[in-house]
Amino acid sequence: MKQINTVTGTVAPEKLGTTLMHEHLLIGWAGWELDCSVPKFDRKSALKNCVETLKPLKDMGLQSMIDPCPMDIGRDVTFMAEVGSASGVNIVAATGLYKEDLGNTPYFKQRSVEEITEIYVQEITKGVGDTGIKCGIIKCATGKGQITPYEENTLRAAGRASKRTGVPITTHTEEGTMGREQLAIFASEGVDMSKVVIGHSCGSADLRYHTDMLDKGCLLGFDRFGLDFAQPDRLRMASLIGLCGIGFEKQIVLSHDSVACWLGRGLDITPQLARLVENWKPSHVFQNVVPALKKAGVSQEKISAMLVENPRRYFQG
Ligand SMILES: [Zn+2]
Repeated sequence: MKQINTVTGTVAPEKLGTTLMHEHLLIGWAGWELDCSVPKFDRKSALKNCVETLKPLKDMGLQSMIDPCPMDIGRDVTFMAEVGSASGVNIVAATGLYKEDLGNTPYFKQRSVEEITEIYVQEITKGVGDTGIKCGIIKCATGKGQITPYEENTLRAAGRASKRTGVPITTHTEEGTMGREQLAIFASEGVDMSKVVIGHSCGSADLRYHTDMLDKGCLLGFDRFGLDFAQPDRLRMASLIGLCGIGFEKQIVLSHDSVACWLGRGLDITPQLARLVENWKPSHVFQNVVPALKKAGVSQEKISAMLVENPRRYFQG
């Protein structure tokens, strides 16, 4: 039986339970700590905020969450471990790098695929820095409509690290593009497709895009529920209900890509934008999406496949 690395120790896959596969505690763009025009980061109140975000979710049945923050946009595994201990939710941290236009790239652009692979493997097998906290998932990301040479290197490194450690991969895609191309890179590295989530696939409502990827055996992340400015939820729902209707519920996972705390300045929520993010919170799937799926005739069995069994199988391999 394979054990999953969480920030508070290992957990057996069958103990994961109801899992949100893509939520963030902290996000900070490289350079955030140089912004002296905003109040200094208050770790204590951020911690309180994160724990208070998770507590009601626990009452809704949440047992585990994946925080796939890559290493270069504010990941703080010690903070994550404190939230995990205080909330009682299993939290899985990621190794990996973000897409080129928003990542912290200067150092890693000078590294080879093998060198990046070695970093990922060490973060999984030995832990992050000297914290002893081990990563349980590998993150990689591409921008809209293209995969840059830098991003390709990070995808290949993710593939190789996954093969060496058995740890699964989750990706970021932009506006429902490049998922198929990400899979082609993983395939050329010999990655086991059942250990890949193509994240933010709900950014497209093109069912051919979805089924092309599902036919390769990967999972799709319908993991931006509530982020209506990126893609209206009703298109996410229409695609999800359709895919469940033709039997693909065994390859889909649900989440929101919510951010509990921003480091430095976060999203600038204008009044116009506010309407489009009112449901962008990690309770939305439980409170609104699941009831809407049921109303549309999606069975409880299919819903629990997406929230419980798929995460378990993905980690179990
Ligand atoms: Zn994310």
